[in-house]
Amino acid sequence: MSASAPSTNPDNHSERNQENFNLKPIPPEGIFSFACHPGVSCFNRCCHEIDVILTPVDILRMKTELNLPSHEFLTKYTSFHSLKETGIPLVKLQMRENSNGACIFLDGTKGCSIYHNRPQVCRSYPLGVAALDPRHAKLQTEGQSTEARFLIQEDMCMGHREPKTWTLKEWMNDQGTIGLEEENKAWLEIVAKLKAMKMAETQQREISLFMMVSYDLDTFWNFVFESTFLERFVVDEKTIENIKSTEAELLKFGMEWLQYALFGEGNIRPRQK
Ligand code: SF4
Ligand code: SF4
Repeated sequence: MSASAPSTNPDNHSERNQENFNLKPIPPEGIFSFACHPGVSCFNRCCHEIDVILTPVDILRMKTELNLPSHEFLTKYTSFHSLKETGIPLVKLQMRENSNGACIFLDGTKGCSIYHNRPQVCRSYPLGVAALDPRHAKLQTEGQSTEARFLIQEDMCMGHREPKTWTLKEWMNDQGTIGLEEENKAWLEIVAKLKAMKMAETQQREISLFMMVSYDLDTFWNFVFESTFLERFVVDEKTIENIKSTEAELLKFGMEWLQYALFGEGNIRPRQK
């Protein structure tokens, strides 16, 4: 996907056409051949009928590009799903009901209309990351870490027949995923902890807090600045200034606060009474 658009998360393929793809583990020093450009006969095919799970950083970048408040972005372009057996709410990009199930951001033959802010799983393809894949629990039991990577080889993807070769690092640099993975790390750690806890539906309060901070930053901003939050938690003046004006900083702060709110951990603490 070096040229213009496509991408996928492999989740859906596992249900859709299991016989037509392979997952090949790639060690950190691994090399693979791949290229994606408008000249490939399959151009844009991978942007149809797929599950693209969005991270909080993806949502922030996309809603900023589209100049929309969180709730409007979520309603217009995404849907909520619970991660199997855990109840953890995840946000997926909407696929169209017509147009062969094209991604809502696929612009005809031109490619991805939000290419510069496309989600992490779109950037990573054809590499999959265990942490963003529902089979990650299985991968872990097989001894692979949440950061384990694998090559998704689908029959329909002609990119694997291109001669250009990449190391993992070169690919990640080219697609801009290294910085993005760092930004998403705190959230992925929270998801991993929640998976281990196997959140039940009875833990509605935790689920609501997780959803607000992860996906609806505008509501979290109100929660921090228009409630008694700052009377209840110790937050220094500089942090208050930063999170009030910069959404990326508010998101980082939110991840720290979730560590406290969900697990009683981290640096943010309630004021002593
Ligand atoms: S199927 Fe593969 S080569 Fe074709 S557009 Fe998608 S990523 Fe590129
Ligand atoms: S966001 Fe862009 S790259 Fe990702 S599936 Fe949609 S159209 Fe394709």
